[in-house]
Amino acid sequence: MINLADIRADFPILSRLVHGKPLVYLDNGATTQKPECVIDKIREIYCSVNANVHRGVHFLSQAATDEHEASRRTVQEFIGAASSNEIVFTRGTTEAINLIASSYCREFCKPGDEVIISAMEHHSNIVPWQLQATISGIKLRVLPISDEGELLLEELEKMISSRTKLIAITHVSNVLGTVTPIGKIIEIAHRYDVPVLVDAAQSVQHMAVDVQQIDCDFLVFSSHKIYGPTGIGVLYGKEKWLEKLPPYQGGGEMIASVSFEKTTFAALPFKFEAGTPDYVGSAALATALDYLSRIGLEKIARYEHDLLTYATEQLSTIDNLKIYGTASDKCSVISFLVEGIHHYDMGVLLDTMGIAVRTGHHCAEPLMRRLGVEGTVRASFAIYNTREEIDLLVNGIRRIVKMF
Ligand code: PLP
Repeated sequence: MINLADIRADFPILSRLVHGKPLVYLDNGATTQKPECVIDKIREIYCSVNANVHRGVHFLSQAATDEHEASRRTVQEFIGAASSNEIVFTRGTTEAINLIASSYCREFCKPGDEVIISAMEHHSNIVPWQLQATISGIKLRVLPISDEGELLLEELEKMISSRTKLIAITHVSNVLGTVTPIGKIIEIAHRYDVPVLVDAAQSVQHMAVDVQQIDCDFLVFSSHKIYGPTGIGVLYGKEKWLEKLPPYQGGGEMIASVSFEKTTFAALPFKFEAGTPDYVGSAALATALDYLSRIGLEKIARYEHDLLTYATEQLSTIDNLKIYGTASDKCSVISFLVEGIHHYDMGVLLDTMGIAVRTGHHCAEPLMRRLGVEGTVRASFAIYNTREEIDLLVNGIRRIVKMF
């Protein structure tokens, strides 16, 4: 069992009022709230260790560098990577996918080659590939989904050919909550020597993910969705791939030597980290990961699964409420619409009750089209949410239904 009272006490924002009501924060898919230890860490770095990393001989620069590199090792351990060289700090999931799309396509793709994504990707895992389509001439293929919101895995093998250069797929859908069979996808892809990028933006905060166990080639996530600060994220890449990829951006930190005639690049992972890194963010992200590890990812997964089951049962008791995404394996996200009530109106009215949900297309417009809707209402859960908050959501929806 997790100690909910203790966990809630760790998050200062949860005690605030919104419109005079206790905050019920159910927009965790967009970003999570921060525990006090993460907030404290940011202050601690600025108050006692702040200096630019990797460059200075002075005490503070060394201390900041040690902290930053220790944070990289914390990330490595958190996702089970073989080496800290495989951990590249980025600005977030979006930048990490752009990095791979740009470097990978430049190195390995020629016009007509194909990248496979799925019908339930976030725009972050669609648009970077479309940009590459115009630059490298690659074609985007889209793995379809069922009406329940599950990948049609049997289609995958039919889509793979000698032109397939990469598969980039989400681990958990930010709209439907579907957990994709990522291990199976990777196994199929590797049978054809195709590498796989996993968008773990919605999974690493909810379940233990071990990159060596699932054997992915790349995995990306954002700190701010896993109780860490904004502005930093992670690209994991197998060393054998990262070694072969050209740098994404140029500048300081990523070089070995520069002359006007020729520049050579730094070793991994620095080759992909141009400019001053977010060493405050990395330290605070590591603090967030340690916080989760102390609670235990298995416990978190079990608790959040109970919450999702309870929310699904309770929401299902409301007349004319339709849940989008009924996959057999789901996690922490529930999308719905009530017939006759626009998602935006539902969101605004819930907000007056202090309940924060997300409305709209959730950066997944192609998925909305597949579902035949313009948008949905999305409640997404985190470790600090409670059954009582779900009751407030359900009662709130019932009141809104009565108003219409
Ligand atoms: N991928 C998924 C599945 C997401 O849910 C999100 C954010 O909602 C992203 C990518 C983009 O994350 P960020 O905006 O932190 O780069």
